[in-house]
Amino acid sequence: MRLILFGPPGAGKGTQAARLLERHPSLAHLSTGDMLRAAVSEGTPLGKQADAFMKAGDLVPDSLVVGLVVERLQKPDCADGFLLDGFPRTRAQAEALDTALDGAGIELDKVVVIEVPDSLIVERITGRRMDPETGAIYHMKFSPPPAAVADRVTQRKDDTVEAVTARLSKYHSETTPVLPFYDAKGLVVRVDGVGAPEDVALRIESALEGVG
Ligand code: ADP
Ligand code: ADP
Repeated sequence: MRLILFGPPGAGKGTQAARLLERHPSLAHLSTGDMLRAAVSEGTPLGKQADAFMKAGDLVPDSLVVGLVVERLQKPDCADGFLLDGFPRTRAQAEALDTALDGAGIELDKVVVIEVPDSLIVERITGRRMDPETGAIYHMKFSPPPAAVADRVTQRKDDTVEAVTARLSKYHSETTPVLPFYDAKGLVVRVDGVGAPEDVALRIESALEGVG
């Protein structure tokens, strides 16, 4: 199965990716946000260039992100399928991905769009916390961390009201224009992202029926 998980910041892409991987363990999870954060914390040249963009809630330039993904897609763990989470985020990224997949003779199966209205996004993002040891995603109100991990959860530097407002605006101006590209290929399925994560997971699973 070769999927793109698409949606605004805070839609639940990471949360649903984790659930999809439980059900489909052979999929490789390619989160460009996670890959870029790893590059920042390792202090690589890419991380040094990406850091300021990420802090401000701006997109990292296509020239930096595309290479990262194209290289990663060639790793053996992607051979049995992959889940792209947070990529492509611009039309140029979608076109570069298309060229790379064409070159490898690979086709995407679906682009799953998790739809959440803007009015819910700020609360989802500012309440988000992450367990640095397991990578598990929590929310202080909607899915609070258990007592054993509550003391160690961290908050992302860009999960502020200012940065999320910028990210949401970029999502509408730069990222939603990607959808007509995949609509034209008949790949887009839209899933309501409002409701309990397990209900959203069921909607995604039924949208994927018959795939892979
Ligand atoms: P994304 O990867 O799209 O930015 P996340 O999966 O990190 O989104 O989710 C953002 C925040 O919203 C997290 O704190 C997560 O726990 C919470 N969340 C995810 N899905 C839901 C949901 N269906 N209802 C309420 N909160 C959710
Ligand atoms: P969220 O889902 O909460 O918006 P991500 O973890 O997917 O956050 O991304 C965090 C940040 O990393 C983005 O705001 C952006 O700066 C950068 N980033 C991630 N993926 C991309 C991408 N495909 N293109 C450009 N920038 C990206």
